[in-house]
Amino acid sequence: MTTRAAAHRTGLRRTARQGIARDPAHHRQITPLARMVRLNAKPRTVTQVTTIDRIDTLILDIPTIRGHVLSMATMRTQAAVLVRIRFSDGSEGLGEGTTIGGLSYGPESPESIRSAIDTYLAPALIGRAADDVNGGVQLMDHVARGNRIAKTAVEIALWDGLGKRLGVSVAQLFGGAVHTRLPVAWTLASGNSDTDIAEAEQMIATGRHRIFKLKIGKRAVADDVAHVARIKSALGDAASIRVDVNQTWTLTEARRGLPALQDAGCELVEQPVAARYLGAMAELTRSHAIAVMADEALGGPEDALAVAAKGAADVFAVKIAQSGGLKRAAEVVAIGQAAGLGLYGGTMLETGLSTAAALQLFATVERLDWGTELFGPLLLTADILAQPIIYRDFHVEVPTGPGIGATLDPYKIEFYRRDRAPRIAVAGE
Ligand SMILES: [Mg+2]
Repeated sequence: MTTRAAAHRTGLRRTARQGIARDPAHHRQITPLARMVRLNAKPRTVTQVTTIDRIDTLILDIPTIRGHVLSMATMRTQAAVLVRIRFSDGSEGLGEGTTIGGLSYGPESPESIRSAIDTYLAPALIGRAADDVNGGVQLMDHVARGNRIAKTAVEIALWDGLGKRLGVSVAQLFGGAVHTRLPVAWTLASGNSDTDIAEAEQMIATGRHRIFKLKIGKRAVADDVAHVARIKSALGDAASIRVDVNQTWTLTEARRGLPALQDAGCELVEQPVAARYLGAMAELTRSHAIAVMADEALGGPEDALAVAAKGAADVFAVKIAQSGGLKRAAEVVAIGQAAGLGLYGGTMLETGLSTAAALQLFATVERLDWGTELFGPLLLTADILAQPIIYRDFHVEVPTGPGIGATLDPYKIEFYRRDRAPRIAVAGE
């Protein structure tokens, strides 16, 4: 669906186009004195304010390179909601919102993200001053509660547009990049230990990744621990091994699981229990040397403050989409830094587009002690960027260029869009 609205509703463009001189009253009432005053007057200037003209959304369905087995779902396709904002000066901004495993992961789905933008966020924003990103973010918070991924997709497009108009990167808009590249982890989630070991060995040999996150929580705790121990003993010191339970364990299971994972050589456990059990997270953080990372518990700065205040994590997994945008993610980072916690750049398995946006923000963070997991584009069978994000030497490089530093490959967009016209093969053609 396309959201259309006339930016001239604001009156700004109408004023600029018609000018005050067209008012016939001026000609009727002009006197010699008035004419003298007019001749000596400075030329009339009309401030041209660039406005948000149009916001389009599109869902892409891109297959993953293998089944991505999580505790709550197995992903075989990633659905990405693309946002394109067109501004009155002809500039454009791009954004993207994704989730992991649809509604089984969190309260937003690709369809709800798109609907929230088309029905509520876009009509509120159209006609507004394009450069007023903070005002746009605040307005979105008034117009819709929650819907953080939808807001993120729009906000990225606003930052991208502003950066392109000014000829600077979004990192520059956030004060400037202090990194040109960041360490990047890979997630082993084939569901099979031997496959995971072979995959990890190939990643190390090709210099792509040496930090691995294992998705666990689907099997019994003892089976998951045995799986982790096997992978760690096969890879040895060449790899850092971490796990993500995605909220699946009870506190009792976690009390057994954490020390066993620590003995297996695992360095960090992500969201072992449900996000709302901050007391349980605090107990686990206090009781074990293995680092406990909050992920689903962090839905923006208010949650970050609660987690930090309760001592419910050693590390924040900062995700731009889960935080509610780049601005809110920067606030989560600030709270983590002020609390002396470790930081990690998380992903919602975005395509290269929002991966580029996340890199723009994380490039400005002084210390990301636990690196990033911004490998989303590598899990997909196709890269939708004209110039894909560069992964080499165990790092992901921060894109250069104005805005988020990403341009789309139009042929890929056309091919993977959900609403594309069916291709009908006709014999003889
Ligand atoms: Mg996670």
